[in-house]
Amino acid sequence: MADHLSVDALLDTLSLEEQVSLLAGIDFWHTVPNERAGIPSMRVTDGPAGARGTKFDGGPASVNVPCSTALAASWDPELVEEVGHLLGREVRAKGARVHLAPTVNLHRTPVGGRNFECMSEDPFLTARTAVAYVRGVQAEGVASCIKHYVGNDTEFERNTIDSQMDERTLRELYLVPFEAAVKEAGVLSIMTSYNRINGPFAADSKELVDGVLRGEWGFDGLVMSDWFGLHSTVEGIEAGLDLEMPGPTQHRGQKLVDAVHAGRVSAELVRKAARNVLVLMQRVGAFDDGGPGPETTVDVPEDRALVRRAAAAGMVLLRNEPAPTGEVVLPLDVSGLRRVAVIGPNAAVGRPRGGGSAQVRPTHVSQPLAALRERLGGVEIVDGPGCYINKHLAALPTRLCDTVVLDYFTDGADLDLAGAVPAHSAESITTRIMWTHDPEEVGARVEGVRLHTNFTPDVSGEWTLGITSVGPTRLYVDRAELLDNSTVPAGGSFFGMGKDETVGAVKLEAGQIYALEARMRRGKIDQTMGGIHLGAQPPRVGDPVDDAVDLAGTADLAILIVGTNHDWESEGWDRDDLGLPGRQDELVRRVAEACPRTVVVVNAGSPVTMPWLNDVAAVLYAWFPGQEMGDAIADVLLGTVEPQGRLPVTFPRRMEDTPASEHHPGRNGVARYVERRLMGYRWYDTIGREPLFPFGYGLGYAPTTITGASLLSDHLVSVQVANTSADRDGVEVVQVYAHRVDREGLPADEADQVLVGYTKVPVPAGTTVTAQVALDARAYSSWDVEQHAWVANPGAFELRVGRSSRDVATRLHRG
Ligand code: BGC
Repeated sequence: MADHLSVDALLDTLSLEEQVSLLAGIDFWHTVPNERAGIPSMRVTDGPAGARGTKFDGGPASVNVPCSTALAASWDPELVEEVGHLLGREVRAKGARVHLAPTVNLHRTPVGGRNFECMSEDPFLTARTAVAYVRGVQAEGVASCIKHYVGNDTEFERNTIDSQMDERTLRELYLVPFEAAVKEAGVLSIMTSYNRINGPFAADSKELVDGVLRGEWGFDGLVMSDWFGLHSTVEGIEAGLDLEMPGPTQHRGQKLVDAVHAGRVSAELVRKAARNVLVLMQRVGAFDDGGPGPETTVDVPEDRALVRRAAAAGMVLLRNEPAPTGEVVLPLDVSGLRRVAVIGPNAAVGRPRGGGSAQVRPTHVSQPLAALRERLGGVEIVDGPGCYINKHLAALPTRLCDTVVLDYFTDGADLDLAGAVPAHSAESITTRIMWTHDPEEVGARVEGVRLHTNFTPDVSGEWTLGITSVGPTRLYVDRAELLDNSTVPAGGSFFGMGKDETVGAVKLEAGQIYALEARMRRGKIDQTMGGIHLGAQPPRVGDPVDDAVDLAGTADLAILIVGTNHDWESEGWDRDDLGLPGRQDELVRRVAEACPRTVVVVNAGSPVTMPWLNDVAAVLYAWFPGQEMGDAIADVLLGTVEPQGRLPVTFPRRMEDTPASEHHPGRNGVARYVERRLMGYRWYDTIGREPLFPFGYGLGYAPTTITGASLLSDHLVSVQVANTSADRDGVEVVQVYAHRVDREGLPADEADQVLVGYTKVPVPAGTTVTAQVALDARAYSSWDVEQHAWVANPGAFELRVGRSSRDVATRLHRG
């Protein structure tokens, strides 16, 4: 099809029923085809750190790029655009045409479960990063589906919570990244959020979808619901929501046809929505594809190199002070090292990504311990986990299992009958399995699932076994019941739909074969999605912290790799607090006591507290850096890459200090954004609260300073940056914050300063370079509620040019 006219011609040939059929998915990841009319199905895929394809488990691997917070921490839109290109190619390799990303909700509270998927607490930095991301992805001939529109800033009661905020807060903060992606990057689709926003569900919000998005911003792409996030037949389509996902439909189909016949929905609206689906398909070439392609893995050295570069560029050096032995430890000088202890729960098995729908199976993972071992050459490396941070037990080690089999039954009672023949059986490569629909081979509704394997422990002693599952499950060891989670409520696993873990201990002998069998019933929830996780933890002897301290005492350098994992930071739930899970704080403190030269690498998606900060020589924040994490960490520690990441989010000292804490996570079904526009650094800077590390902060190895700045025009600042080092090239991220000078009569939530521009500047050794910082077109404007428009603010401005929100090098006057 050549143009939009032909879409209209095609629409003319479609009956009302056929048009309606286009307005919901056919399954989890595809739109509905229409063979008669020559309309193929189109595939969509998550997002945002890769392209997973149609399987949550066991599908083809995808390149796993750094999480979005790490991308934003690079403050480098060009680099992000390159990563976008890579993601666009990954989407195509999965036979898909729509990438369910980027996530541009804001880090309103540091414990938000999906913060790692989002970019920053700041709308401007998020917008710049998102525009670059979308441009890159879409240049590869696929659509980005930016999400979640809007107000899905935590996971607490996310399917029902009403995010209530005033108009200026909505306009000046939370809508900004979406608006920029529409207007500047021409994003082709958008996903509404689960939550309600000032009353109606986001999917039903006529004001925000039809009014703001389409009416004001001129968006002419496709709007889809978040998965199961549409709750209406009439309101959603009236609001302008085109595509209900996933399928098969719950609210459209015959219900919508009937609503049209009853005069409750106009046929014109149906046609408009169907048109948006077809236009998107046309824009991404889905008609030429003739249907979704095969799902493949592309694993080429150039992609690995880009992911490594992006990972290193986002890492933030938070501290690099002289050790008690007198010298600054980073960058590491390998020549002086004899024995290095690499310790921590994330050392041998690092965490490239967070949990939930953002998960992809990486093509490979460069692990921190392995990479450091290789890069530290002749140095002796000793290692240990230090402590354990599993929230849920790790899946059963499959090397100790024979085949893992899943039997599907159409009668739940058959689960308990020894000889019952399953309707379908399938082998699995893991004991953590999640599925989106009943397998077709079953031919009927699945009422029971049995996961079984023969397990041969390699260690004798008390093993801990655990079950997390979507439906009520019993676990049997050699036919004796060990666990029953039927009374455990839903929440805490599988996107919040599954039950939290139930664990039990059992004595097992090494070398003996045990039949493990988990029997899960469908339970009450009427959804096709299911999941079961059979976890195990071997017997533990001794104290891992003591062991680590002993190791550290023998080493001349300790590198601690601590953090969280995909269970702590995930879609479906928030973190409870800011602390590192498990005994990690104790571990760091005691290792630092035992080894004066201690470097901490934090592998987490969002801020953690660091009660040991002053006890260690250096801290590098690595985020969830994607699959090349080990090499990227080594690059920065060894100084082959200059540390150049800057915090895209304020690091608080305590939860109580954070802007949203007063009303976090929400009460009586409502999340009131009581801090209004004072979110993130705007809050800390305006009320004068000291953060642990301010927004925009990050160190380098090279000594760079901002030596001067001038205003070339209202929206262009020229800045000089010097690097006094004789031999070390540096990188600086120059940031410009706007402060309104005349503050009389300004509302209480008027921020002291707001980020309005930044640029990343390479500064070679011994040079001074001049760079230009382009300022936000709205640097001097605010949303005016009366005029319903952005309006220039009266009065003078001070432009603060510096290296973080708190480190101002020079101030410029704009009258
Ligand atoms: C998430 C979306 C995601 C979708 C499909 C939902 O649970 O909120 O971000 O794209 O699932 O996996």
